[in-house]
Parts: sequence; C-alpha cells; structure tokens
Amino acid sequence: MEFNIALLKGDGIGPEIVESTVRVLEKTAEKFGHKFNFTPYLIGGCAIDATGIPLPQETIDGCLASDSVLLGAVGGPKWDDQPGNNRPEKALLGIRSALGLFTNLRPAQLYPALRSASPLKDEIVGDGFDIMIVRELTGGIYFGDRGYREGKYGQEAYDTEAYSVTEIERIGKVAFETAMKRNKKVCSIDKANVLESSRLWRKTMHELSEQYPEVEYSDMFVDNAAMQLVRDPKQFDVIVTSNMFGDILSDEASQITGSIGMLASASLGAGTRGMYEPIHGSAPDIAGQNKANPIATILSGAMMLRYSFGLSDEADAIENAVNKVLDAGHRTADLMGTANGTPLTCTEMTEKIIEVL
Ligand code: NAD
Repeated sequence: MEFNIALLKGDGIGPEIVESTVRVLEKTAEKFGHKFNFTPYLIGGCAIDATGIPLPQETIDGCLASDSVLLGAVGGPKWDDQPGNNRPEKALLGIRSALGLFTNLRPAQLYPALRSASPLKDEIVGDGFDIMIVRELTGGIYFGDRGYREGKYGQEAYDTEAYSVTEIERIGKVAFETAMKRNKKVCSIDKANVLESSRLWRKTMHELSEQYPEVEYSDMFVDNAAMQLVRDPKQFDVIVTSNMFGDILSDEASQITGSIGMLASASLGAGTRGMYEPIHGSAPDIAGQNKANPIATILSGAMMLRYSFGLSDEADAIENAVNKVLDAGHRTADLMGTANGTPLTCTEMTEKIIEVL
C-alpha cells in the first residue's frame, strides 16, 4: 500500500526525532512491501523565522492533502517574546482545529524493562499498568469565549467552558469503542459537583454507556482522579475527559511511567487522517546534541500505522522492536536513571530498533 505523510519537524529536538522515525517507517515499509512518501512542512518557531507566522497556510494545505501527519515538537526560548497569538505553540491549536482533530489518544504504559524509572513504589505499580487517556481536543475552555471586562474588583480576565451534547457524544463513542478493543472499562472524569458543563457531560456519558452493556462504566470527579492515578493506577483502563482535565491528567499519567521520552500520542477526527506526535516538548536544553530519546516519536509512528492506515501487524512489529531493544538493556540518557555505562545517542537508539526490525 502507498501513503502520503506530512512531516512537521518543528523546533528543538523535533528534526532529530522525526528523522529517526522516518528511518524506522522506511524500514517497516521495506519489510512489509509498502511505500510511504514524506513531505516536510514548516510549523512553530522555524515557520515564524521563515514566514513570520507559526502556521503558514501552505502547511495546513499540505496536511489536508496528506493521508496523515507526523509532528516533532514546537517552541523554544528564541520565540518566548512573541505575542500570545503568534507563539509557536499557537500553531498546535490551529492545526488540530484545521484538521478537525477532536480526539487525543494518549497511552500511559509502564514498560516492564523501565519499571525502576517510575516514581511510584513497587507495591503500587505491581506488574505494571496500561491506561489509555481519551481527551476531547477541540472544545471546552481552551476554545471558549474569553476576554477582559470590568468585574467586582476592577478589571478581570475570563475564559469559558462550554460543551454540547454532540461534542460529548462523539468523544464518548471513541472512548467506548476503544475500551471494546481493550479491557472493556471506561471511567469518565468531570467536575459535576460544581460545573454545569460537567453535569451535561456526565448525563450524556451515562446515556451513551447504555449502548455499550459490555463495558464497565464509572465516573469520577477530577480531583479524586488526580489522587487515584498515583494511589492505584491499575484500576484504570480507558479514561475519557474534557480538554483541560485531559491536558493535566495525561501529563500526570505520563509522569508515573517515569519516562517522558517514551510516550506517544494520536490526535484523530472523523476520518482516518490523524496527527501523531510525542507528548514531550522540543527539549531546547538538549537540541542538536544527538541526545534525544526518539522512542516516543517512533511509537507515535506505530500508532499512525495502526489508527490511520489500518496496518496493525506493522505497528506491532515496531512496538516489539522497541520492547526488545529495551529488554536488551539499551538506554538513551533520559532512561539511564542511576545505571552506569554510556547512554546511546538518538542515532544509535534508532539503529538498534532498525536492526531488530
Ligand atoms: P520538554 O518536554 O521539552 O522538556 C522537559 C524535560 O524533558 C527537558 O529536560 C528535556 O530535555 C527532557 N526531554 C523531553 N523530551 C525528551 C526526549 N525525547 N529525550 C530526552 N529528554 C527529553 O518541556 P519544556 O522544557 O517545558 O518545554 C520546552 C519547549 O517545548 C517549550 O517551548 C514548550 O512550549 C514546548 N512544548 C511543545 C510541545 C509540543 O510541541 N507538542 C509540548 C510541550 C512543550
């Protein structure tokens, strides 16, 4: 099969980790007899440098014309003094919105080989956990009405959280369908004891759950969920939540795996086209030094094969290769912990994975 992939390398370590992933995808294509065509486009700080804005129209058009999008990361100190609406990170909201990507899938999985990297105690982690966070991505407070006005104590700023039944139902369906392919458990997280938008969220999720009798459904307040994630992460299978709660909880979930350089994500819409990216940022402190861990981006590439192209065997092959390389004890600097020895460079880690493939 043949697929066109838009590459948004971005800033900092973005180019290094995307190049690594392209090499792994090319090896996978060769092994399974596919053809992937890669076309690079500018996004973030490098786009500001070249065109004055973080998300040029050419990038949006290129992504819309592709079968899927692979993103590195954007941002860095060089662009910190850009005005709010022209910051590199603004391009992320813009491209998700332009591609209609309303779902963010973030797996938070503890790799057995990296168990010691988790900040949680052994008795909590047990034999590991595997959580899929399904975050709503194009609604809620990040997209609601905002501004400044005269308030009770003088000038004040405000942001608005709003969700429609349609938005809640479509993200809920993704969560239930995802759970059907996993351990058949969905926990919906809200703040229904305080927020009106959360009460509608909870009511809609409850109604939707009746269409999935095989799925064990529960709901939880977000403050309790933040606590439960570190108290007993194994209780969760699929978590579904709003844009802002998902932003915060998915970072918490990623931290308890102990390895930010390992975690992939997928942003999906109504069709098969998605945008795939590591959850970490552009790591300006190690950019250009060949020290970055490419695994989160490589696993994002595997998610692209599975969710956008329907190539599950190929995705499995990449994930198995990563597991084997970790099991053999190979580590980039971020995964070394207190271990002795010389860490692998980004290039060396990529080559180990390609070798196993
Ligand atoms: P970060 O994730 O870039 O870095 C946090 C720490 O983790 C750093 O010490 C970094 O070296 C390390 N790290 C991150 N990824 C790594 C990898 N693959 N291998 C090894 N080490 C890795 O977060 P930050 O420092 O808060 O943000 C840096 C820039 O990235 C900021 O401009 C921020 O706005 C941007 N950012 C972008 C995205 C995105 O593009 N999706 C996401 C988060 C942050």
